[in-house]
Order: sequence, then C-alpha cells, then structure tokens
Amino acid sequence: MPPAGDQREVVIHRAERLRQLPPYLFVEIDRRKREALKRGIDLVDPGIGDPDLPTPPEIVERLRDEALRPENHRYPSAGAVEAFSREAARWFGRRFGVDVDPGADVLPLIGTKEGLGHLPLAFVDPGDVVLVPDPAYPVYRAATLLAGGVPRDLPLVEERGFLPDLEQVDEDTWRGARVVFLNYPNNPTAAVADEGFYGAVVQKAAEYNVIVVNDAAYSEITFDGYSSPSLLQVDGAMDVGLEFHSFSKTYNMCGWRVGFAVGNERLISGLAALKANLDSHPFGAVLGAATRALQMGDDHIGRTLAVYRERRDILVGGLRGLGWDVHPPRGSFYLWVRTPEGMDSVRFATDLIERAGVVVAPGAGFGAAGEGYVRMSLTCETERVRLAVERLREAGLGNPGGRRAARAEEHHARGGEPGGPAG
Ligand SMILES: *Cc1c(COP(=O)(O)O)cnc(C)c1O
Repeated sequence: MPPAGDQREVVIHRAERLRQLPPYLFVEIDRRKREALKRGIDLVDPGIGDPDLPTPPEIVERLRDEALRPENHRYPSAGAVEAFSREAARWFGRRFGVDVDPGADVLPLIGTKEGLGHLPLAFVDPGDVVLVPDPAYPVYRAATLLAGGVPRDLPLVEERGFLPDLEQVDEDTWRGARVVFLNYPNNPTAAVADEGFYGAVVQKAAEYNVIVVNDAAYSEITFDGYSSPSLLQVDGAMDVGLEFHSFSKTYNMCGWRVGFAVGNERLISGLAALKANLDSHPFGAVLGAATRALQMGDDHIGRTLAVYRERRDILVGGLRGLGWDVHPPRGSFYLWVRTPEGMDSVRFATDLIERAGVVVAPGAGFGAAGEGYVRMSLTCETERVRLAVERLREAGLGNPGGRRAARAEEHHARGGEPGGPAG
C-alpha cells in the first residue's frame, strides 16, 4: 500500500466528442424546482413529456408471459425480430397505405432515441454537414456532434408554421449535407407537416443525395380529426427516407425502450450494420409485447387521445381566459407558448415556478430559436392541469405586453372573462 502522502486524484480524460456537447439548458429550472420543493411548494410538474398514463394491460400481460419463456432469456432470436418486423410492416401498411418489406425495410430499435442517436455514426463522416431543426429534440444535434458532423441550423419560425425554409439553405450546404432531420408532429412546437412539405424535402434531398430522417414519435398523438401523414407516403421518399416510430407516446411505453425504423433498404442495412457492433436488439420479451401493441385496434389510442384532448382544452381555454395567446395543437401533447414581451424563456419559466408552482420547459433549452417561448406539456393528471390554470389565475400571471395584452384588452372590451393580464 502506498503511503498516504502519495495519494492523488486519478485523472479521467473526457473525450473531446463528449466535452463538445451543448450544456444541459434545463439546469437552472431544475435548480429552481428543487428549491421550490424544499420550501414545501406543491409543483404541478408534467415532467419532460413522459406520459403519466399507464401502458395498456394487454401489453403488460404479454410481457409477463414472454418473460416466463426461457427462449427470451437468451439473446433475442431471429424469430422474435422477424415476428416484430412483420407486425410493424403490417401496422405501417394499414396506417399509411405504404407497402414495406419487413425483412429489408424495417429495423427494431431500443427506443427511437437509440436509433436516431446512432444514425449519424452510420452515415456521417467527420466534417459532413447535417441539417438540424432549431428548436428541436436535442438528440439530432448531439448525435451529429458525436459523429464529428457539423450541425447546420434549420430555424423553425411561427410565420412559416414551424416548417424549415428549404430555400434558405444555400446550394453549397445542400451539396455538403448528408442528413436532414425532421420531426413532425413536432416537439417542442407542436407543429404538423403535410405531404406537400415532405414532397419538397424529398425532391431537394434526392437532387443532392441527402438522407431524410423523420422522427415520427408523435404520429398517433393528433386531434380534431387530423391524421399525420408519413414521410414515406410521398413519391421518391423510399429512395432517400427513413422514418422513426416509437411506442413511448402511442402506447405509454417510455420505460420499455422499443421502437423501429422503416424506410429505404440501404439505409436500414447501414444502420443495422452499425448496430450489430453495439447491441443485440431489444429484449425478446419486450419485442413480443411490442408486437402485441401493434395488433391493438384504435380503441386504446382513442382513449388516450380523449384524455389529452380534455387536458388540452382545459389548458388552452384557461390560458385564453387569462389573456394568453395560445393555440390548441393538432399534434403532440405540447403547447408552445410565447413568453411575455421582453422576457426570456428561463426567466418566464422561473416566474411560473416561483409564483404559481407550475413547471414548464424554457424554449431556449431546445435551441437558440426556441428563445421567446416555453413548452407546456399535457402529461399530468387532468385535475392538476385544472389546478395549474387556477394557480396562474390566482398569481395574476397573465401574459403582459405586446400584442397579447392588446388582444386580451379587446377580449375584455367585448365583455370577456375577468382575470386578464396583470403581473
Ligand atoms: C419522446 C420522443 C421520442 C421517443 O423516443 P423513444 O426513444 O422511442 O422513447 C423521440 N423523439 C421525440 C421528438 C420525442 O419527443
């Protein structure tokens, strides 16, 4: 044993690729949340967009049965993977009217985050450009950086319905680009995309040999009769496109870690070749349970959507009553809400915690273009959503300043509800 005086702290080198990742921007909010909880404040906290509803019992029962089967205690079998891929292809065909080959065009994933995170390692060389929306789910940018790629922002602005302006990207950038990431229905802006938009992206991408990735995690979370199309429905998409589907939001299965990629055969085989070196597919029992999920009819999702719709209408109606300028989303379970004029998103989010005990995500945490917004989520009990509105009213947390205040005054003048903007 070395003498005590010789002890020194071992140096742990963190790789540059890890150090270059953007800082976690919700740190400040997390700190305020902890402080508020310590002071005994009861927070209405819908979390990070993790559904509060349980996984349907049929799926849980199937997991139990599958877990008891010794074959599932071994590495996931080709049979389990094939059965899952067949069911995923069948579901995809039913839902979007697109025929895909389960053997070649479908790949099971350990959650879509895993697949999205690994994709650039398979298709992006150091220095290659990757087009990444801003604001966005942070994985696209992080995965690009981890692969040595160069993220180029595609700003999503309200005036364009939070769809990127493809013509804003110059020709050199298109030429150097390998991948463009899309995510509709969108987190965090709740925007949706139509086939016309996907068609325009596919056309550009085909011209410049760019891979189009659509993260469709919210494809089934839609309202008011709106049904989200698939990227792969448009002409030519199967030549350049890959779409990522998740069980997390559709079936309340965030913890289960399962999803799938579907699309161009060579993109599927490239991602599969990379993943063969890193993992061995999801747990066979989880694949079995996810296969069961894909066989469920529309009843389950209908019940889930009814819960979100009620919460959405309570929150939108309540906030409008306070003079907030908010729009009911057609897709996703988020509200993307402008901050009061001149107030940044962290400051506004902090205010909401400290004055009303309501937790929202500051838009800046999703990218520079997210500044000026906060994201409210519908993933806590309906009664808590009602309580959030009540607390905002009591705290006088209207949305002061700018056009919102003007609209609220108009609303008042027309004899609208009391409780307009104050604080
Ligand atoms: C929740 C979410 C996912 C889900 O990822 P899983 O790994 O399948 O749980 C993917 N993309 C976005 C944008 C999300 O918000």
